[in-house]
Amino acid sequence: MRLRPHHALCIQKFTGHGYDERFTEHMTEICEKLGKHPETSVTVIQGCDEPCAACPNDLAGSCSALEKVDSMDEGVLKALGIRYGDTLPWDKLAARARKNVFETENFEKICGTCEWFGLCRSTSI
Ligand code: SF4
Ligand code: SF4
Repeated sequence: MRLRPHHALCIQKFTGHGYDERFTEHMTEICEKLGKHPETSVTVIQGCDEPCAACPNDLAGSCSALEKVDSMDEGVLKALGIRYGDTLPWDKLAARARKNVFETENFEKICGTCEWFGLCRSTSI
């Protein structure tokens, strides 16, 4: 599966809320698939990925909030010590995101401006 860096966070904090029904259903499928198959190989990519494919903000392969999400993506790359093009199992990527982002001040630094931050901060995983 191809994921942009900050979606390693969003997938773990997803509780069924999203931009619209299509996005939410698609995100639910992704989360269920990764939950059932944590060994799934994930390649970290720049630009629109699997969750973006059903998002109303995906404008022909580019996010309409590009500046904001680019900054989150860069923050996650740095915090996790990974690079675009790296491939690793979902469970390893998710664990690294928990340790290096959710359990540190990086969470607010990376996600603080996101409209879902309050919800994600109060969501236990
Ligand atoms: S706060 Fe926003 S970017 Fe961060 S995990 Fe939640 S939905 Fe994703
Ligand atoms: S298109 Fe933008 S807002 Fe939509 S899921 Fe992708 S990064 Fe998030």
